[in-house]
Amino acid sequence: MNTRDTLKINDKGHLEIGGADCTDLAKRFGTPLYVFDEAYIRAMMRVYRDTIETEYDGNGLVLYASKAFSCEAMYAIAKQEKIGVDVVSGGELYTAMQAGFPAEKIYMHGNNKLPRELTYALDCGVGTIVVDDAEEADLIDAEAEKRGIVQSVLLRINPGIEAHTHAYVQTATTDSKFGFSIQNGTAAKMTAYLLGKKHLRMKGYHCHIGSQIFEKQSFVLAVEKNFAFAAEMKKTLGFETETLNMGGGFGIWYTDEDAKIDVNGYKKYLEALIGTVKEKCAEYGLKRPYILIEPGRSIVGEAGITLYTVGAIKEIPNVRKYVAIDGGMFDNPRYALYQSKYTAILANRAAEAPCELVSVSGKCCESGDLIGVNMNLPEAKRGDIMAILSTGAYNYSMASNYNRNLIPAAVLVKDGKAEYIVKPQTYEDLVRNDAIPAYLREENRS
Ligand SMILES: *Cc1c(COP(=O)(O)O)cnc(C)c1O
Repeated sequence: MNTRDTLKINDKGHLEIGGADCTDLAKRFGTPLYVFDEAYIRAMMRVYRDTIETEYDGNGLVLYASKAFSCEAMYAIAKQEKIGVDVVSGGELYTAMQAGFPAEKIYMHGNNKLPRELTYALDCGVGTIVVDDAEEADLIDAEAEKRGIVQSVLLRINPGIEAHTHAYVQTATTDSKFGFSIQNGTAAKMTAYLLGKKHLRMKGYHCHIGSQIFEKQSFVLAVEKNFAFAAEMKKTLGFETETLNMGGGFGIWYTDEDAKIDVNGYKKYLEALIGTVKEKCAEYGLKRPYILIEPGRSIVGEAGITLYTVGAIKEIPNVRKYVAIDGGMFDNPRYALYQSKYTAILANRAAEAPCELVSVSGKCCESGDLIGVNMNLPEAKRGDIMAILSTGAYNYSMASNYNRNLIPAAVLVKDGKAEYIVKPQTYEDLVRNDAIPAYLREENRS
């Protein structure tokens, strides 16, 4: 599949995703609505999986970084595609287990895993835990001993590279809440520490240098630093890295300021990483490790769009025009958080040329509740269906009930047909866990 074919304009002038007309979806399911193209998700999972197969003899695994979009259906797809997943909380782990995902293919991350999350992970039989703290290692070791098992672990390390979208900086001192620094020696100390644990099997390293990165060289540099460190650990501790997790972070298209990378372009990123792994193994005389990558955004980000209905339109003369939609920061907080940029299309008038720059605002009680500023659109009218593109990652997963707005439903489109993967919330859901203390009830009665 050419992943660039996921969105089309049909002969009615409507936007289509995965063969489904967005105006029909809006009518049938209501708005706001998250829509995902299953073919896109599978194509991305496959290209990473197949590239490891063909370029590295299958000696590795793609992990879907499920924080990008976690719901049972995503784990069900990942299971069918025979890839692994990473989880960063008890809640993501629970969701994966509910979907019947094989525990041995789950990698558990997090910089402050709670004791109850760790015991839950061991209860589930999670394949690998990525250690990010010494006391956490003690706890896993003790729990593994209790259960009479040896738990596989990786160590999160910090190569001292900060990647930004199109550039990177190398830092000698690492300021991050994640991992142990190579430069300041703590990564080496922790390696020795983990090797000393009877009920842990130290397998290797994990690093993740950032997200929405386009610069291939940042990933390559991180892998090079990993191998220099691995070689040093072999020399000083006699420890040979069995597994190397190179993290995620491949960038996606949000607006035309970003590169538009097709499925083959992502293949090239992975080939560059694999090429570096082979080269460095030869250079340092190391065995080729089992490799992992953890793409999240690039698997699901461009597979998803959000549909909204246009409501109030407010023109402030000589200032700007606000086009309000029936969603906002409760379903997509990324503008409010990072001033992220998106592309908007009027799905019912998709063939019309854009003619004005407007701010698209949400319905929350915050001035900063925007989907974007200076978005290029045809003249929007109340009732138009607006599609915001590339919302598959870090939208639903970051949604909230702010202002007691309902988190929108999500549907999965396959061969033009759509089905719920997340059902719509109801007002009853909002008060399900509310409680009024008895004395308050009593006082209100009199
Ligand atoms: C967020 C994250 C990922 C996924 O990053 P993407 O940019 O979505 O590909 C992978 N690994 C770790 C450890 C992460 O924190």
